[in-house]
Amino acid sequence: MQKICLLGATGSIGASTLDVISRYPEQFKLVSAAANTNVEKMAQICRNFRPQRVVMGDQDSRDRLAALCCDLPIQFEYGQAAMESIAADDCDQVMAAIMGFAGLRPTLAGIRAGKRTLLANKESLVTAGRLFMEEVERHNVVLMPIDSEHNAIYQCLPQTEHGAHKRDIARILLTASGGPFRTFTSEQMTCVTPAQACAHPNWSMGQKISIDSASLMNKGLELIEACWLFDVTPNEVQVVVHPESIVHSMVSYQDGSVIAQMGNPDMKIPIAYGMTWPERIDTGVAQLDFFDLAQLNFEAPDLDRFPNLRLASEAWFAGGTAMATLNAANEVAVAAFLREQIGFLDIARLNERVLERSDINTVNNLDAVFEADGRARELATKLISAEFT
Ligand code: NAD
Ligand code: MG
Repeated sequence: MQKICLLGATGSIGASTLDVISRYPEQFKLVSAAANTNVEKMAQICRNFRPQRVVMGDQDSRDRLAALCCDLPIQFEYGQAAMESIAADDCDQVMAAIMGFAGLRPTLAGIRAGKRTLLANKESLVTAGRLFMEEVERHNVVLMPIDSEHNAIYQCLPQTEHGAHKRDIARILLTASGGPFRTFTSEQMTCVTPAQACAHPNWSMGQKISIDSASLMNKGLELIEACWLFDVTPNEVQVVVHPESIVHSMVSYQDGSVIAQMGNPDMKIPIAYGMTWPERIDTGVAQLDFFDLAQLNFEAPDLDRFPNLRLASEAWFAGGTAMATLNAANEVAVAAFLREQIGFLDIARLNERVLERSDINTVNNLDAVFEADGRARELATKLISAEFT
């Protein structure tokens, strides 16, 4: 029996994780869960899965949840410290699926406690980078990428008993759907709405990652994520736009072989793989039907229409706090776009401006990351009111 701590339980990854857990009640038990403010959804999770500890983002949400579930023997808590505490408490695996930079501390708490870490929360690895990977190594943690592309790359790499390793690889081919605006001109993208940006052609996901997919910032974050996870640089990663989202990524080897991982686009596949590796289980996802597919397409990304991908690569080469700075600017920009305070193309403009105007420091400790994050958020907020509205 594997005890699971689920951070971000009320989200899209949270729902897919709960689906996998509920299919295998003898194999997995949800022991703890965390979310921000969605009390109703968390109350449902409490009734269906009976975890022991549940943490909400603030006291009001915690109190409302406790009132709704007063007949259940669950310890209800709130705040960051409690989220860190459940990740480090009695569990075998931590699913890190909180949205954004807010997931960094709880994710690291699970790693420091030596838990198998299922990493969906890419922002935590992107921002803390080397520090994050050093903690993984120090605590001898099994880190399973849940992002479908990185999970695919992991599956395409040579497997050892300690996980996947890059050996004899020429490059990584990171696939991207291209998002809902793949065929739009810049002019057409000027006035797209949040609803249009959230309508992803192949995946149903949380709002923030949906906007990131539309702006290709998601692919930028994933480029950085791949560099940290697989110890490569952006020069060894080629982004390949593949609108059908059937090939989830590929690894190209020195001998000319390319190994791809394919499947229907459903996050239950990478989630279940992360939870059961090195075994596999039936996820209920339909098998691929190649006669149905008939055709798969591939094209190069357009960095002029989607500058976020270029910015991510530049941030990687700038190093240090540049990646935390870019991520923070983007989190502020996406929130402002969702409030319809700035336009869609302003997201990349704001990201670029914040990156240009921020000092880049080396990252010797977590404080440096938090400081860069705070400064970038402040600058982005200022720029929005001064230059973008
Ligand atoms: P979502 O918006 O659907 O859910 C986010 C979850 O995080 C919710 O449970 C929410 O309550 C919680 N949360 C948000 N802010 C919080 C805070 N400050 N403190 C505590 N909890 C907080 O998002 P999602 O689509 O499930 O994505 C979650 C993470 O997984 C993101 O980092 C995303 O990039 C990554 N991811 C998602 C997908 C996908 O298909 N949805 C795929 C790959 C990676
Ligand atoms: Mg992805």
